[in-house]
Amino acid sequence: MERTLVIVKPDGVQRGLVGEVIRRFEAKGLKLAGLKMMTLDEAVLREHYAHIADKPFYPGVESFMRGSPVVVLCIEGLQCVNAVRLLCGITKAREADAGTIRGDLAMSVACNVVHASDSSENAVKEVKRFFKPDELFTYDKSEYMHVYGADER
Ligand code: ADP
Repeated sequence: MERTLVIVKPDGVQRGLVGEVIRRFEAKGLKLAGLKMMTLDEAVLREHYAHIADKPFYPGVESFMRGSPVVVLCIEGLQCVNAVRLLCGITKAREADAGTIRGDLAMSVACNVVHASDSSENAVKEVKRFFKPDELFTYDKSEYMHVYGADER
């Protein structure tokens, strides 16, 4: 099983959407492997958003992400990096598909409720960036026998 990182961004926390976001991942059949609230500092954001650090909008992204606490989730499931990205929807929330988190819950490019790792390689790095090993949990989930076929578990 694969693991991926999700951040419920400050707008999601401020708008009381933490439970709704987690509900959607749980309803899909994904497993929570880690969960915590934290504030993000300049250094971790520069590392996390290195791919946009030279964009003119980066200072705004950084101050937004530092504006209030976030909730970070490590989510586990079969090929879950892709599955979680599909559940989140595209960056520009007002054009995201209905049924996705961004499509249903947001209007903005900047304030788009969630971050999700965009590749398996980045997911490994991002989970390590935000969780210490003892903050991640390995356990059996009884519903797996109903969520996956025998050859997928
Ligand atoms: P995603 O979060 O969908 O993977 P990116 O990695 O391209 O998207 O961008 C990271 C985050 O930076 C976005 O989720 C969004 O919050 C912010 N962002 C991206 N593009 C813009 C933009 N043009 N203006 C403002 N914020 C942006």
